[in-house]
Amino acid sequence: MPATLYLSVVIPVYNEEKSLPLMYERLFPVLDGIGKPYEVIFVNDGSRDRSQTVLEELFHKRPDVIRVVQFMRNYGQHPAIIAGFERVRGEVTVTLDCDLQNPPEDIPRLLQEIEDGHDVVHGCRAERQDVAWRKAVSRLANIIRERITHIRLRDQGSMLRAYRREIIDQIVASDEATPFIPAQAQYFASNPAEIDVGHEERAAGVSNYNVYRLIRLNFDLVTSFSLVPLQLFTIAGMLLSAASLLLVVYMMLRRIFIGPEAEGIFTLFAILFLLVSVTMTGLGIVGEYVGRIYSEVRRRPRYTVKRVLEKL
Ligand code: UDP
Ligand code: MG
Repeated sequence: MPATLYLSVVIPVYNEEKSLPLMYERLFPVLDGIGKPYEVIFVNDGSRDRSQTVLEELFHKRPDVIRVVQFMRNYGQHPAIIAGFERVRGEVTVTLDCDLQNPPEDIPRLLQEIEDGHDVVHGCRAERQDVAWRKAVSRLANIIRERITHIRLRDQGSMLRAYRREIIDQIVASDEATPFIPAQAQYFASNPAEIDVGHEERAAGVSNYNVYRLIRLNFDLVTSFSLVPLQLFTIAGMLLSAASLLLVVYMMLRRIFIGPEAEGIFTLFAILFLLVSVTMTGLGIVGEYVGRIYSEVRRRPRYTVKRVLEKL
């Protein structure tokens, strides 16, 4: 799609029937206030509540600026954003969550940074309104991820970000089976910026992420940008093999010169368990990458669309 507007706003929606009207109340005055042509693309990621009905009502209120993409089923926040990216008509694209945790009032500040020449602007949550364990897990994941992938993101969880058209085109073109948008944007950015943005408590409903989904997200993030876990494993495997070989030689010599030992059997078990567990972890890591290759090779569409509402 050629850029015919100034701004596109992409919002993934999953079970947000209660937040949507509040979002509508707060977002549109901000966008109208900017005074430039814009559009808002809501991607309904297979919501199981009344979100689609609410979206249709909103569409009929502002058909000039609202577009709604409805997925066949739930594909996840990042595929939903990609679906929006593939349809944006704006020179600049802004993403934000539907639950109003990212204040829409901060959008003009992101756009200011874009005007100043940055191609990606990350909104970082100055004061994060989430439960303590979420913050702790994020902090740990950030440290590990930064070390391994060298992709520096101060705040990976916030979706309040702005991207220039070139970045959007590159993310869409890279066509990853399991996308993680902030990291991809940072990877393609030549002049990224970070600004502090507000963070509020969820307006309504509950978070769609649990521990499992967060762990999955971070594994995907690391395996899509780095081979370090595999390489570390090879190194560790080599060191351990050398050590085990020494042990085997020692046990053989001992058997020849001192005689068989029975008491040490549990030491051997301990060592065996260690090696087995290391091997299992290794297989798991290899599996992560094989799984990624599998999903890339399979080339299954990242999402399927049931219906699109837009004024042509
Ligand atoms: N979301 C989505 N698909 C999903 C999960 C979440 O489109 O499978 C959307 C959700 O509607 C919201 C945003 O992604 O707009 C962030 O989700 P949520 O607020 O649940 O995550 P948290 O703020 O707890 O990280
Ligand atoms: Mg949220």
